[in-house]
Amino acid sequence: MAETAAGASQALDYIKGRIEKARRRFGPPPESVELVAVSKTFPADQVRPFLVAGQLVFGENRVQEAKEKWPGLRAEFPGLSLHLIGPLQTNKVREAVALFDVIETVDRDKLAKALGEEMARTGRRLPCFVQVNIGGEEQKAGIAVSETADFVGRCRSDYGLNVVGLMCIPPDGQPPGPYFAHLVQLARDCAVEKLSMGMSGDFETAIAMGATHVRVGSALFGRRFTPEPA
Ligand SMILES: *Cc1c(COP(=O)(O)O)cnc(C)c1O
Repeated sequence: MAETAAGASQALDYIKGRIEKARRRFGPPPESVELVAVSKTFPADQVRPFLVAGQLVFGENRVQEAKEKWPGLRAEFPGLSLHLIGPLQTNKVREAVALFDVIETVDRDKLAKALGEEMARTGRRLPCFVQVNIGGEEQKAGIAVSETADFVGRCRSDYGLNVVGLMCIPPDGQPPGPYFAHLVQLARDCAVEKLSMGMSGDFETAIAMGATHVRVGSALFGRRFTPEPA
């Protein structure tokens, strides 16, 4: 675990090296791959060294945790960008729009409408990703594959959201490649450019398929001991 700036720097260099290698190895390479450092469950003191080491893009999956952790860090590092990568309840939309810079988990009309209204009210028109339930898993968040194109259309025209891309989490225990490839195809159908896919275990595969954003947690910060809420 990287608890010092030097340790964080080393962990970052290692992951960025792997990202860069994957980007060059497979063609046509995405222009650039954004590393979203997933800091959920890690306290501010363990995140700060990564900011000191130059990492400015982070992901959190819970509004409440972000609210406790990030305003202080943001005061120290005004250039940082925070992505919401976990499920969002409609009653937390106001806080989420205030706290985050990118919303990656737009997956239903009620949420999209609430986000659109809050962004219009505050003038914070954040880039959004539509989360797709790429494996068609009953318990998983995300819009159904067959509804994605229509939903992206509604997000844009009815709710005024700035949809920049698609995001997915493939099913556990299966090769992720075909799911990533499917998301790429869907993104083409929806005319969105960005693809948030790939985590610690599979980000190189995701980059090979065309990921523009990879969400890497444990490979950077170490193992998470706190159980994650669903
Ligand atoms: C926790 C989480 C990640 C990071 O997972 P690691 O396997 O630790 O890299 C990425 N995306 C989402 C949506 C997550 O909840």
